[in-house]
Amino acid sequence: MADIQTVLEKEFKNADFLLDIQKIRNILDANNGARIRTWLSICSRCGLCAESCFVYLSNDQDPKLSPAYKFKHTLGQIYRLKGKVDRTFLEKCYEIAWLQCTLCKRCSMDCPFGIDIATMIAISRNICHSQGIRPKSLAEFSENCRKAGNHMGIPVEELIDTCDWMAEETEDEFRGVEIPVDKPNATFMYTINPREPVYYPQDISNAAIIFAAAQESWTIPSFGWDCTNLPMFAGDSKLAGQQVRNVYKKAKELGVEKVLITECGHAYRSLAFEGPYLAEYAGGKPPVEIVHYVKLIYDYLKQGRIKIDPQKKIKEPVTYQDPCNVSRNGGLWEEARKIIPYIAEDFRDMAPNRDRNHCCGGGGGVMPMGPDYKAARMASGRIKAEQIKATGAKIVIAPCHNCFDQINDLSEEYELGAKALSLKEVIVESMLIPDHISKY
Ligand code: SF4
Ligand code: SF4
Repeated sequence: MADIQTVLEKEFKNADFLLDIQKIRNILDANNGARIRTWLSICSRCGLCAESCFVYLSNDQDPKLSPAYKFKHTLGQIYRLKGKVDRTFLEKCYEIAWLQCTLCKRCSMDCPFGIDIATMIAISRNICHSQGIRPKSLAEFSENCRKAGNHMGIPVEELIDTCDWMAEETEDEFRGVEIPVDKPNATFMYTINPREPVYYPQDISNAAIIFAAAQESWTIPSFGWDCTNLPMFAGDSKLAGQQVRNVYKKAKELGVEKVLITECGHAYRSLAFEGPYLAEYAGGKPPVEIVHYVKLIYDYLKQGRIKIDPQKKIKEPVTYQDPCNVSRNGGLWEEARKIIPYIAEDFRDMAPNRDRNHCCGGGGGVMPMGPDYKAARMASGRIKAEQIKATGAKIVIAPCHNCFDQINDLSEEYELGAKALSLKEVIVESMLIPDHISKY
């Protein structure tokens, strides 16, 4: 593992050293069900989970990076000590919980007892968070969520201005492309990652062009538009619940049929699967249907609502990054593979792939933790870099912002000569422009 001691010393320099043990015990009590007790006691130390973990594989198979070691030396130890831990111990937990596990859930697939290591590491994050021990950047992003409802702290007027600006930008090439805000009773309420209005506004206009081509009924909400959930990764379950409630509530208020999620992996996990629990909805089901962008594109192509120009199919070798929370944890790996033949001539799948694909190394909140953690992120991404290199692909389609950024960083670090592209970029570049939006 990359040396991160200096980074951690900087992270905790002015930290308060008093722990509130009662808060830790409250979290332990709240999670002290049969499920966790069984997981903690049943592990036979068989080691089958080790080679499932990309962090272990990427870092010379260090036994301390095996999933079993990680949960035993975090939550396992905290339960054993009945919460009476000290700060030095929790700082070690911090390193394991945020830098050595992205909560990708691959290891559970190989455990003969189905022990869910990621869930236990997530509880360890909750415990660290309760003592103010959490990544500073994730705490700042969470504060933005608390104040503005999105992790970049973007005010409502700024989002609306960006939507207007992006709609105008399409006018040179297309006609009739709109970005409707707060339109009631649309089919889709389109939710986005705050990185889009700030760093990739083109992503919003690309989405609008695709919606217009497909003659879709859609809207962007003025609030509740941030589908991401960085508080969930910061270990702040309460605020994470508020983030998903913002989206569900706005969807109900606008009377939309479905909530559509942009190309973001953890947003899908948050809104479709963990959100109802975080927001304390009975039955664990979201109050409105949640659709990921991969599924939308698959449906549009299959139904002929958008068509690809055969001359514009990608000629270079292409591979596909299965984002953990879209494929393994979201079930959309086959839909993705049915999209590829429409858009690429030379597809080369990574091995392993689909639900068994490795995390890119940028998930679980480590990407937004900032540049101080890049060395660790690059070291853990070695397996992904080797997977991509083995395909010989020059383009990696990555329908997740974290995967996208991590793969471009890995390409530079490991000299892969490959670049990540979003589905939207590929579709807008290659689709046949229908008459109803064509200017020519
Ligand atoms: S959840 Fe993923 S990163 Fe965490 S221990 Fe398991 S395989 Fe490794
Ligand atoms: S595979 Fe399961 S039982 Fe075996 S060491 Fe890993 S967590 Fe324990």
